[in-house]
Amino acid sequence: MNKDVNIVIAGGGPVGLFLAGRLIQFGFHCTLLENKPKIDRHSKSLGIHPVSLELFNRAGIADQFIEQAINIRRGIAFWNRDKIGEISFARCPKPFNFVLALPQWQTETILENWVHSLRPGTIVRGAEVTNITQSDHSVSVTYHQHNSEKTMTADFLVGCDGKNSNARKLAGIPFNGKPYPDTYIMGDFTDNTRFGTDAAVYLHHDGLIESFPLPGNMRRWVAKTESLIEEPKAEMLRQIIEQRTGHSLTTSENVMMSGFGVQHYLADVFHSGRVLLSGDAAHVISPIGGQGMNLGWLDAEACAQIFVKAADRPSEISRLIKTYTTHQKKIAIHAAKRAEMNMWLGRKENSGFTVKMAAHLITKKPLSHLLARVFTMRGLGSWWI
Ligand SMILES: Cc1cc2nc3c(=O)[nH]c(=O)nc-3n(C[C@H](O)[C@H](O)[C@H](O)COP(=O)(O)OP(=O)(O)OC[C@H]3O[C@@H](n4cnc5c(N)ncnc54)[C@H](O)[C@@H]3O)c2cc1C
Repeated sequence: MNKDVNIVIAGGGPVGLFLAGRLIQFGFHCTLLENKPKIDRHSKSLGIHPVSLELFNRAGIADQFIEQAINIRRGIAFWNRDKIGEISFARCPKPFNFVLALPQWQTETILENWVHSLRPGTIVRGAEVTNITQSDHSVSVTYHQHNSEKTMTADFLVGCDGKNSNARKLAGIPFNGKPYPDTYIMGDFTDNTRFGTDAAVYLHHDGLIESFPLPGNMRRWVAKTESLIEEPKAEMLRQIIEQRTGHSLTTSENVMMSGFGVQHYLADVFHSGRVLLSGDAAHVISPIGGQGMNLGWLDAEACAQIFVKAADRPSEISRLIKTYTTHQKKIAIHAAKRAEMNMWLGRKENSGFTVKMAAHLITKKPLSHLLARVFTMRGLGSWWI
Protein backbone atom coordinates (compact mmCIF):
# COMPACT_ATOMS: atom_id res chain seq x y z
CA MET A 1 0.00 0.00 0.00
CA ASN A 2 1.35 3.45 -0.80
CA LYS A 3 0.03 6.84 0.12
CA ASP A 4 -1.29 7.71 -3.38
CA VAL A 5 -4.02 5.12 -3.24
CA ASN A 6 -7.67 5.63 -2.46
CA ILE A 7 -9.44 4.89 0.73
CA VAL A 8 -13.19 5.28 0.45
CA ILE A 9 -15.13 6.12 3.61
CA ALA A 10 -18.83 5.21 3.66
CA GLY A 11 -20.68 7.62 5.98
CA GLY A 12 -19.86 11.16 7.06
CA GLY A 13 -21.10 11.28 10.65
CA PRO A 14 -18.65 12.41 13.35
CA VAL A 15 -16.50 9.28 12.93
CA GLY A 16 -16.22 9.27 9.12
CA LEU A 17 -15.45 13.00 9.07
CA PHE A 18 -12.67 12.68 11.65
CA LEU A 19 -11.20 9.69 9.82
CA ALA A 20 -11.21 11.60 6.51
CA GLY A 21 -9.30 14.52 8.06
CA ARG A 22 -6.71 12.26 9.67
CA LEU A 23 -6.14 10.27 6.46
CA ILE A 24 -5.58 13.49 4.50
CA GLN A 25 -3.16 14.72 7.19
CA PHE A 26 -1.22 11.46 6.88
CA GLY A 27 -0.95 11.98 3.11
CA PHE A 28 -3.57 9.53 1.84
CA HIS A 29 -6.00 10.23 -0.97
CA CYS A 30 -9.49 9.53 0.33
CA THR A 31 -13.11 10.12 -0.65
CA LEU A 32 -16.00 10.22 1.80
CA LEU A 33 -19.45 9.24 0.52
CA GLU A 34 -22.29 10.56 2.70
CA ASN A 35 -25.94 9.83 2.10
CA LYS A 36 -27.42 13.02 3.60
CA PRO A 37 -27.37 16.23 1.54
CA LYS A 38 -26.46 18.26 4.63
CA ILE A 39 -25.72 17.93 8.35
CA ASP A 40 -28.77 16.93 10.39
CA ARG A 41 -29.51 19.60 13.06
CA HIS A 42 -31.26 17.16 15.40
CA SER A 43 -28.99 17.04 18.41
CA LYS A 44 -28.02 13.53 19.58
CA SER A 45 -24.68 13.33 21.31
CA LEU A 46 -23.08 16.18 23.19
CA GLY A 47 -20.31 14.78 25.45
CA ILE A 48 -16.73 15.01 24.15
CA HIS A 49 -14.23 13.34 26.48
CA PRO A 50 -10.54 14.13 27.16
CA VAL A 51 -9.38 11.05 25.19
CA SER A 52 -10.96 12.60 22.10
CA LEU A 53 -9.55 16.04 22.88
CA GLU A 54 -6.10 14.46 22.88
CA LEU A 55 -6.80 13.10 19.38
CA PHE A 56 -8.14 16.49 18.26
CA ASN A 57 -5.04 18.14 19.71
CA ARG A 58 -2.82 15.95 17.55
CA ALA A 59 -4.98 16.88 14.56
CA GLY A 60 -4.68 20.59 15.47
CA ILE A 61 -8.41 21.16 16.00
CA ALA A 62 -8.87 20.87 19.80
CA ASP A 63 -9.05 24.67 20.28
CA GLN A 64 -12.06 25.02 17.97
CA PHE A 65 -14.01 22.52 20.09
CA ILE A 66 -12.95 24.08 23.39
CA GLU A 67 -13.97 27.56 22.19
CA GLN A 68 -17.44 26.54 20.95
CA ALA A 69 -18.37 24.04 23.67
CA ILE A 70 -19.18 24.31 27.35
CA ASN A 71 -16.29 23.01 29.46
CA ILE A 72 -17.79 20.82 32.21
CA ARG A 73 -15.40 20.59 35.15
CA ARG A 74 -17.71 19.09 37.77
CA GLY A 75 -20.68 16.75 38.13
CA ILE A 76 -23.07 17.02 41.10
CA ALA A 77 -24.85 13.90 42.33
CA PHE A 78 -28.25 13.94 44.08
CA TRP A 79 -30.09 11.18 45.87
CA ASN A 80 -33.73 12.02 45.19
CA ARG A 81 -33.53 15.78 45.91
CA ASP A 82 -30.58 15.71 48.35
CA LYS A 83 -27.09 16.50 47.21
CA ILE A 84 -24.83 13.56 48.09
CA GLY A 85 -21.53 14.53 46.49
CA GLU A 86 -19.51 15.91 43.62
CA ILE A 87 -17.20 14.48 41.00
CA SER A 88 -14.49 16.91 39.94
CA PHE A 89 -12.46 16.39 36.78
CA ALA A 90 -9.76 18.81 38.09
CA ARG A 91 -7.38 15.99 39.05
CA CYS A 92 -7.68 14.24 35.70
CA PRO A 93 -4.54 14.61 33.52
CA LYS A 94 -3.99 18.17 32.25
CA PRO A 95 -4.48 20.02 29.98
CA PHE A 96 -7.81 18.33 29.16
CA ASN A 97 -9.19 17.89 32.67
CA PHE A 98 -12.77 18.63 31.66
CA VAL A 99 -15.53 17.21 29.46
CA LEU A 100 -16.95 19.27 26.60
CA ALA A 101 -20.65 19.64 25.85
CA LEU A 102 -21.42 20.48 22.23
CA PRO A 103 -24.44 19.43 20.14
CA GLN A 104 -23.52 16.81 17.56
CA TRP A 105 -24.40 19.01 14.58
CA GLN A 106 -21.88 21.62 15.76
CA THR A 107 -19.25 18.91 16.20
CA GLU A 108 -19.93 17.66 12.67
CA THR A 109 -19.79 21.23 11.31
CA ILE A 110 -16.32 21.80 12.82
CA LEU A 111 -15.11 18.47 11.40
CA GLU A 112 -16.65 19.05 7.96
CA ASN A 113 -15.08 22.54 7.65
CA TRP A 114 -11.73 21.10 8.75
CA VAL A 115 -11.84 18.32 6.11
CA HIS A 116 -12.85 20.90 3.50
CA SER A 117 -9.93 23.15 4.47
CA LEU A 118 -7.49 20.22 4.20
CA ARG A 119 -8.69 19.05 0.79
CA PRO A 120 -11.84 20.47 -0.84
CA GLY A 121 -13.89 17.88 -2.69
CA THR A 122 -13.12 15.01 -0.30
CA ILE A 123 -16.72 14.88 0.99
CA VAL A 124 -19.31 13.81 -1.57
CA ARG A 125 -22.82 14.42 -0.19
CA GLY A 126 -26.10 12.89 -1.35
CA ALA A 127 -24.15 9.70 -2.18
CA GLU A 128 -25.57 6.43 -0.84
CA VAL A 129 -23.27 3.40 -0.85
CA THR A 130 -25.32 0.51 -2.25
CA ASN A 131 -22.86 -2.22 -3.15
CA ILE A 132 -19.32 -3.36 -2.44
CA THR A 133 -17.36 -6.08 -4.21
CA GLN A 134 -13.85 -7.12 -3.27
CA SER A 135 -10.91 -8.75 -5.02
CA ASP A 136 -7.51 -9.61 -3.53
CA HIS A 137 -6.16 -6.18 -4.45
CA SER A 138 -9.05 -3.74 -4.46
CA VAL A 139 -12.60 -2.93 -3.44
CA SER A 140 -15.21 -1.64 -5.84
CA VAL A 141 -17.85 0.67 -4.34
CA THR A 142 -21.18 1.42 -6.01
CA TYR A 143 -23.15 4.46 -4.92
CA HIS A 144 -26.28 6.33 -5.98
CA GLN A 145 -26.10 10.07 -6.47
CA HIS A 146 -28.49 12.41 -8.36
CA ASN A 147 -30.54 9.44 -9.62
CA SER A 148 -27.56 7.77 -11.22
CA GLU A 149 -25.34 4.88 -10.24
CA LYS A 150 -21.59 5.38 -10.02
CA THR A 151 -18.67 3.12 -9.19
CA MET A 152 -15.34 3.89 -7.57
CA THR A 153 -12.41 1.52 -7.06
CA ALA A 154 -10.16 1.81 -4.02
CA ASP A 155 -7.64 -0.14 -2.02
CA PHE A 156 -9.80 -0.10 1.10
CA LEU A 157 -13.25 0.93 2.25
CA VAL A 158 -13.95 1.99 5.83
CA GLY A 159 -17.59 1.69 6.84
CA CYS A 160 -18.46 4.60 9.15
CA ASP A 161 -22.11 4.40 8.19
CA GLY A 162 -23.69 3.99 11.60
CA LYS A 163 -25.58 1.25 13.38
CA ASN A 164 -27.53 0.08 10.31
CA SER A 165 -24.28 0.00 8.31
CA ASN A 166 -24.73 -1.19 4.74
CA ALA A 167 -20.95 -1.66 4.49
CA ARG A 168 -21.09 -4.13 7.38
CA LYS A 169 -24.02 -6.02 5.84
CA LEU A 170 -22.43 -6.12 2.38
CA ALA A 171 -19.17 -7.39 3.89
CA GLY A 172 -21.17 -10.15 5.61
CA ILE A 173 -20.05 -9.25 9.14
CA PRO A 174 -22.51 -10.45 11.82
CA PHE A 175 -23.72 -7.82 14.31
CA ASN A 176 -24.95 -9.35 17.55
CA GLY A 177 -26.63 -7.78 20.54
CA LYS A 178 -29.93 -6.80 22.03
CA PRO A 179 -32.00 -3.86 23.18
CA TYR A 180 -31.91 -3.08 26.92
CA PRO A 181 -35.22 -2.59 28.73
CA ASP A 182 -34.25 1.03 29.54
CA THR A 183 -36.00 3.94 27.83
CA TYR A 184 -35.57 7.71 28.17
CA ILE A 185 -36.91 11.03 26.98
CA MET A 186 -34.72 14.07 26.50
CA GLY A 187 -35.17 17.73 25.73
CA ASP A 188 -33.17 20.94 25.39
CA PHE A 189 -34.48 23.94 27.36
CA THR A 190 -33.25 27.44 28.09
CA ASP A 191 -31.22 27.14 31.28
CA ASN A 192 -32.92 28.52 34.38
CA THR A 193 -30.87 26.49 36.90
CA ARG A 194 -28.00 27.62 39.10
CA PHE A 195 -25.76 24.79 37.91
CA GLY A 196 -23.81 27.02 35.51
CA THR A 197 -21.30 24.78 33.69
CA ASP A 198 -21.80 21.84 36.10
CA ALA A 199 -23.54 18.62 35.11
CA ALA A 200 -26.11 17.18 37.52
CA VAL A 201 -27.30 13.60 38.01
CA TYR A 202 -30.33 12.73 40.15
CA LEU A 203 -30.59 9.12 41.27
CA HIS A 204 -34.30 9.07 42.03
CA HIS A 205 -36.59 6.28 43.21
CA ASP A 206 -38.75 6.89 40.12
CA GLY A 207 -35.74 6.80 37.78
CA LEU A 208 -32.66 8.74 36.70
CA ILE A 209 -32.56 12.41 35.70
CA GLU A 210 -29.46 13.87 34.00
CA SER A 211 -28.88 17.54 33.26
CA PHE A 212 -26.06 18.94 31.11
CA PRO A 213 -25.16 22.52 30.15
CA LEU A 214 -25.15 23.41 26.45
CA PRO A 215 -23.80 26.46 24.60
CA GLY A 216 -26.16 29.44 24.22
CA ASN A 217 -27.55 29.28 27.78
CA MET A 218 -29.32 25.99 27.05
CA ARG A 219 -29.51 22.80 29.10
CA ARG A 220 -30.18 19.17 28.10
CA TRP A 221 -32.47 17.18 30.44
CA VAL A 222 -32.71 13.38 30.20
CA ALA A 223 -35.27 11.37 32.19
CA LYS A 224 -35.70 7.63 32.53
CA THR A 225 -39.21 6.47 31.55
CA GLU A 226 -41.26 3.31 32.12
CA SER A 227 -41.54 2.59 28.38
CA LEU A 228 -40.53 4.05 25.03
CA ILE A 229 -42.27 7.34 24.24
CA GLU A 230 -41.62 7.98 20.55
CA GLU A 231 -42.86 11.56 20.34
CA PRO A 232 -42.69 13.04 23.82
CA LYS A 233 -44.08 16.48 24.58
CA ALA A 234 -42.05 19.10 26.45
CA GLU A 235 -44.78 19.33 29.10
CA MET A 236 -44.32 15.66 30.00
CA LEU A 237 -40.58 16.16 30.62
CA ARG A 238 -41.25 19.36 32.60
CA GLN A 239 -43.63 17.43 34.87
CA ILE A 240 -41.21 14.52 35.41
CA ILE A 241 -38.33 16.88 36.24
CA GLU A 242 -40.41 18.91 38.68
CA GLN A 243 -41.77 15.81 40.38
CA ARG A 244 -38.32 14.13 40.75
CA THR A 245 -36.04 17.14 41.35
CA GLY A 246 -38.32 19.97 42.48
CA HIS A 247 -36.94 22.14 39.68
CA SER A 248 -39.52 23.97 37.53
CA LEU A 249 -38.96 24.46 33.80
CA THR A 250 -42.32 26.23 33.32
CA THR A 251 -40.66 29.42 32.11
CA SER A 252 -37.97 27.67 30.08
CA GLU A 253 -38.34 27.50 26.34
CA ASN A 254 -38.04 24.03 24.80
CA VAL A 255 -36.25 23.66 21.46
CA MET A 256 -35.81 19.89 21.05
CA MET A 257 -37.56 16.74 22.35
CA SER A 258 -37.01 13.08 21.65
CA GLY A 259 -37.48 9.65 23.14
CA PHE A 260 -35.08 6.75 22.77
CA GLY A 261 -34.43 3.18 23.78
CA VAL A 262 -30.91 1.84 24.21
CA GLN A 263 -29.12 -1.13 22.75
CA HIS A 264 -25.86 -2.98 22.77
CA TYR A 265 -24.58 -4.45 19.51
CA LEU A 266 -21.09 -5.55 18.55
CA ALA A 267 -19.68 -6.68 15.20
CA ASP A 268 -18.02 -10.13 15.28
CA VAL A 269 -14.95 -8.61 13.62
CA PHE A 270 -14.18 -5.03 12.61
CA HIS A 271 -12.90 -6.02 9.16
CA SER A 272 -13.50 -8.43 6.32
CA GLY A 273 -10.93 -8.47 3.53
CA ARG A 274 -10.51 -4.86 2.41
CA VAL A 275 -13.50 -3.50 4.33
CA LEU A 276 -12.94 -2.10 7.85
CA LEU A 277 -15.58 -0.79 10.26
CA SER A 278 -15.37 2.20 12.63
CA GLY A 279 -17.85 3.83 15.01
CA ASP A 280 -21.47 2.74 15.39
CA ALA A 281 -21.05 0.49 12.32
CA ALA A 282 -18.85 -1.69 14.57
CA HIS A 283 -20.47 -1.20 17.99
CA VAL A 284 -23.53 0.41 19.54
CA ILE A 285 -23.49 1.05 23.27
CA SER A 286 -25.89 2.80 25.60
CA PRO A 287 -25.61 6.60 25.36
CA ILE A 288 -25.94 6.92 29.15
CA GLY A 289 -22.41 8.07 30.01
CA GLY A 290 -21.93 9.56 26.54
CA GLN A 291 -19.20 7.38 25.07
CA GLY A 292 -20.41 6.08 21.66
CA MET A 293 -19.12 8.87 19.44
CA ASN A 294 -15.85 9.12 21.42
CA LEU A 295 -15.34 5.39 21.02
CA GLY A 296 -15.79 5.85 17.27
CA TRP A 297 -13.08 8.51 17.17
CA LEU A 298 -10.70 6.09 18.92
CA ASP A 299 -11.49 3.56 16.15
CA ALA A 300 -10.90 6.21 13.48
CA GLU A 301 -7.50 7.20 14.86
CA ALA A 302 -6.45 3.55 15.22
CA CYS A 303 -7.63 2.84 11.67
CA ALA A 304 -5.66 5.80 10.25
CA GLN A 305 -2.55 4.69 12.19
CA ILE A 306 -2.92 1.15 10.79
CA PHE A 307 -2.91 2.55 7.24
CA VAL A 308 0.22 4.62 8.04
CA LYS A 309 2.02 1.52 9.34
CA ALA A 310 0.84 -0.52 6.34
CA ALA A 311 2.21 2.11 3.94
CA ASP A 312 5.68 1.51 5.48
CA ARG A 313 5.30 -2.28 5.77
CA PRO A 314 2.93 -3.40 2.98
CA SER A 315 3.56 -7.09 3.59
CA GLU A 316 2.09 -6.75 7.10
CA ILE A 317 -1.26 -5.28 6.14
CA SER A 318 -3.34 -8.38 7.01
CA ARG A 319 -1.72 -8.70 10.43
CA LEU A 320 -2.17 -4.97 11.13
CA ILE A 321 -5.86 -5.07 10.22
CA LYS A 322 -6.40 -8.05 12.52
CA THR A 323 -4.69 -6.10 15.32
CA TYR A 324 -7.13 -3.27 14.70
CA THR A 325 -10.09 -5.61 15.21
CA THR A 326 -8.63 -7.25 18.33
CA HIS A 327 -7.77 -4.02 20.17
CA GLN A 328 -10.77 -1.90 19.19
CA LYS A 329 -13.20 -4.71 19.97
CA LYS A 330 -11.70 -5.03 23.45
CA ILE A 331 -12.06 -1.26 24.00
CA ALA A 332 -15.69 -1.35 22.81
CA ILE A 333 -16.48 -4.19 25.25
CA HIS A 334 -14.93 -2.20 28.15
CA ALA A 335 -16.87 0.94 27.23
CA ALA A 336 -20.14 -1.02 26.97
CA LYS A 337 -19.60 -2.37 30.50
CA ARG A 338 -19.05 1.17 31.82
CA ALA A 339 -22.25 2.31 30.08
CA GLU A 340 -24.16 -0.64 31.60
CA MET A 341 -22.96 0.42 35.07
CA ASN A 342 -24.25 3.97 34.44
CA MET A 343 -27.65 2.59 33.43
CA TRP A 344 -27.79 0.19 36.34
CA LEU A 345 -27.33 3.06 38.83
CA GLY A 346 -30.22 4.96 37.24
CA ARG A 347 -32.80 2.15 37.26
CA LYS A 348 -35.91 2.50 39.40
CA GLU A 349 -35.58 -0.99 40.87
CA ASN A 350 -32.02 -0.16 41.95
CA SER A 351 -33.02 2.87 43.99
CA GLY A 352 -32.59 1.11 47.32
CA PHE A 353 -30.18 1.57 50.17
CA THR A 354 -27.29 -0.32 48.49
CA VAL A 355 -27.21 1.95 45.48
CA LYS A 356 -27.57 5.01 47.69
CA MET A 357 -24.54 3.90 49.70
CA ALA A 358 -22.61 3.03 46.52
CA ALA A 359 -23.45 6.43 45.01
CA HIS A 360 -22.50 8.15 48.26
CA LEU A 361 -19.16 6.33 48.43
CA ILE A 362 -18.12 6.90 44.83
CA THR A 363 -18.60 10.63 45.19
CA LYS A 364 -16.11 10.69 48.10
CA LYS A 365 -12.31 10.66 47.73
CA PRO A 366 -10.45 8.58 46.63
CA LEU A 367 -13.22 6.73 44.75
CA SER A 368 -14.46 9.98 43.19
CA HIS A 369 -11.05 10.36 41.46
CA LEU A 370 -11.40 6.85 40.09
CA LEU A 371 -14.95 7.56 38.95
CA ALA A 372 -13.79 10.78 37.25
CA ARG A 373 -11.22 8.69 35.34
CA VAL A 374 -13.79 6.08 34.38
CA PHE A 375 -16.35 8.69 33.37
CA THR A 376 -13.83 10.54 31.18
CA MET A 377 -12.96 7.28 29.36
CA ARG A 378 -9.40 7.15 30.71
CA GLY A 379 -7.66 3.83 30.14
CA LEU A 380 -9.38 3.21 26.79
CA GLY A 381 -7.36 3.66 23.60
CA SER A 382 -3.89 4.66 22.34
CA TRP A 383 -2.51 1.09 21.90
CA TRP A 384 -1.30 2.03 18.40
CA ILE A 385 1.37 4.51 19.62
C1 LIG B 1 -29.75 10.25 22.50
C2 LIG B 1 -28.32 9.96 22.21
C3 LIG B 1 -27.33 10.65 22.92
C4 LIG B 1 -25.98 10.37 22.69
N1 LIG B 1 -25.04 11.06 23.39
C5 LIG B 1 -23.73 10.78 23.20
C6 LIG B 1 -22.71 11.52 23.88
O1 LIG B 1 -23.01 12.45 24.65
N2 LIG B 1 -21.41 11.20 23.62
C7 LIG B 1 -21.07 10.19 22.77
O2 LIG B 1 -19.87 9.91 22.60
N3 LIG B 1 -22.02 9.51 22.06
C8 LIG B 1 -23.33 9.77 22.26
N4 LIG B 1 -24.27 9.11 21.54
C9 LIG B 1 -23.86 8.12 20.52
C10 LIG B 1 -23.46 8.85 19.23
O3 LIG B 1 -24.54 9.64 18.75
C11 LIG B 1 -23.04 7.84 18.17
O4 LIG B 1 -22.15 6.90 18.75
C12 LIG B 1 -22.35 8.54 17.00
O5 LIG B 1 -23.27 9.34 16.29
C13 LIG B 1 -21.75 7.51 16.05
O6 LIG B 1 -21.11 8.19 15.01
P1 LIG B 1 -20.87 7.47 13.60
O7 LIG B 1 -20.21 8.49 12.74
O8 LIG B 1 -20.22 6.15 13.84
O9 LIG B 1 -22.33 7.10 13.08
P2 LIG B 1 -23.54 8.07 12.72
O10 LIG B 1 -23.53 9.29 13.55
O11 LIG B 1 -24.74 7.21 12.72
O12 LIG B 1 -23.21 8.53 11.23
C14 LIG B 1 -23.31 7.62 10.16
C15 LIG B 1 -23.41 8.41 8.87
O13 LIG B 1 -23.42 7.49 7.76
C16 LIG B 1 -24.39 7.91 6.82
N5 LIG B 1 -24.80 6.71 6.07
C17 LIG B 1 -25.55 5.67 6.50
N6 LIG B 1 -25.69 4.76 5.52
C18 LIG B 1 -25.01 5.23 4.45
C19 LIG B 1 -24.79 4.74 3.13
N7 LIG B 1 -25.27 3.55 2.72
N8 LIG B 1 -24.06 5.50 2.28
C20 LIG B 1 -23.54 6.70 2.66
N9 LIG B 1 -23.73 7.21 3.91
C21 LIG B 1 -24.45 6.48 4.78
C22 LIG B 1 -25.50 8.53 7.66
O14 LIG B 1 -26.27 9.44 6.89
C23 LIG B 1 -24.71 9.22 8.77
O15 LIG B 1 -24.40 10.56 8.45
C24 LIG B 1 -25.63 9.37 21.75
C25 LIG B 1 -26.62 8.68 21.03
C26 LIG B 1 -27.94 8.97 21.28
C27 LIG B 1 -28.99 8.21 20.52
